[in-house]
Amino acid sequence: MAIRDILKYPHPILRRKAAQVTDFDDNLRKLVADMAETMYDAPGVGLAAPQIGVSLQLLVMDITGKDEEPELIVLANPVLSEGEGAALEEEGCLSVVDLTARVQRFTKIRVQAQDIDGTSLDFIADEWFARVIQHEVDHLNGILFIDHLSSLKRAMYKKKRKKQLAQATA
Ligand SMILES: [Zn+2]
Repeated sequence: MAIRDILKYPHPILRRKAAQVTDFDDNLRKLVADMAETMYDAPGVGLAAPQIGVSLQLLVMDITGKDEEPELIVLANPVLSEGEGAALEEEGCLSVVDLTARVQRFTKIRVQAQDIDGTSLDFIADEWFARVIQHEVDHLNGILFIDHLSSLKRAMYKKKRKKQLAQATA
């Protein structure tokens, strides 16, 4: 296992639509192990493969609390449907540094996906679990949480980030 570098906005891979996972083999297991290690190290509650530069429909997450046993969830080729309700809650992202903002998401969704062995999954997620899945699935479609903000807020962040990057290379 290895901790991978997390790509940061505005890296172009973060904007790509990821390809389907087709091979549920040892390479996929290794990739998932790296993603999990990278996520726990960050630390974050979710990580999508494009965030470490692998443009595949694959995500890991763990929404258990600090004092609970960790429980890793792996979803390949997730498809969301039957969104219900709406809630505005604070989000951040390992690929969008120095910004948190309130984002509107469905409070309940149906998730169809495959697990690490390629077995089909079909379940209903709600509340925080549903929010994290929606955030991570966005990554697989090249969408970042800043895309859900007003154009003014997004423009302000872009400007701030440009300045940061200019200072970093100066
Ligand atoms: Zn994110």
